[in-house]
Amino acid sequence: MDDGWNEQFADAPDVLKTAAHPKTVVWAGGVAIGDGRFVTMAGPCSVETEGQLLETAVRVAAAGAQVLRGGAFKPRTSPYAFQGLGLEGLKLLGKARAATGLAVVTEVMAAADAPLVAEYADILQIGSRSMENYALLEAAAHTGRPVLLKRGMVATVADLLRSAQCVVSHGNPNVILCERGIRTFETSTRNTFDLAAIAVLKEAARLPVIADPSHAAGRRALVPALARAAVAAGADGLIVEVHPHPEEAWSDGEQSLSFEEFGTMMAELEPWCALRAAQTLVPEVVA
Ligand code: PEP
Ligand code: MN
Repeated sequence: MDDGWNEQFADAPDVLKTAAHPKTVVWAGGVAIGDGRFVTMAGPCSVETEGQLLETAVRVAAAGAQVLRGGAFKPRTSPYAFQGLGLEGLKLLGKARAATGLAVVTEVMAAADAPLVAEYADILQIGSRSMENYALLEAAAHTGRPVLLKRGMVATVADLLRSAQCVVSHGNPNVILCERGIRTFETSTRNTFDLAAIAVLKEAARLPVIADPSHAAGRRALVPALARAAVAAGADGLIVEVHPHPEEAWSDGEQSLSFEEFGTMMAELEPWCALRAAQTLVPEVVA
């Protein structure tokens, strides 16, 4: 805790750490996020077919994921690209949850859709492009479901925390922050993974912080390295794109891992997570 942060993030008082409230543990579909155990959310960028989703759910669960991701409503850069299956996609997510026991995270794009998405999702994802859509944040807050808030691609940490404050101020304290890369002059990656933001958020905010190495990297070969870095920086978890046949994915195939690649990444993360767990056993000094 540091007064400097309180001043810098003065617009977000209810998401900052205090001596009385150093951390929020978010519970979603039986999974605790932010309690010291590392949580992995994984699945396809978009829900495409029943076979694709169920196969992915089974395989990511076997590799250690606790939450299934998959977009039914997709914010696509082009209006001609696949926009998601909508309600049909939500129903498939519900089936996958029933079949595997995984919790489900999926994006909600419109305030009017929030109650419907909340019927099928354990966590409502607010996408980067929607981070400052305050009507959507309010509608998501009112569903009572935990909210996974992705950092806007041109948003500062203060902007992200302001949006988190918006959700909390509407009566929903269960917000998970997500660093997914920001737009910079660098073009070798899809976005620039802001590792320091994870450290800042873990230092200043009481909310769990997860990393999305897939959208940060934009290329599957880079995903495991960014995931390791996120663990080392203190992230509470990951959200990763995985597809049965990444080269055939309807969206974000270049950055999606195959089952084998995901399994290898998860196994290779274990010693890093163990180191991190040992660190969190050291009691935090509260000034
Ligand atoms: C996604 O998770 O597939 C997505 C669209 O992410 P972002 O909002 O971070 O671009
Ligand atoms: Mn995607």
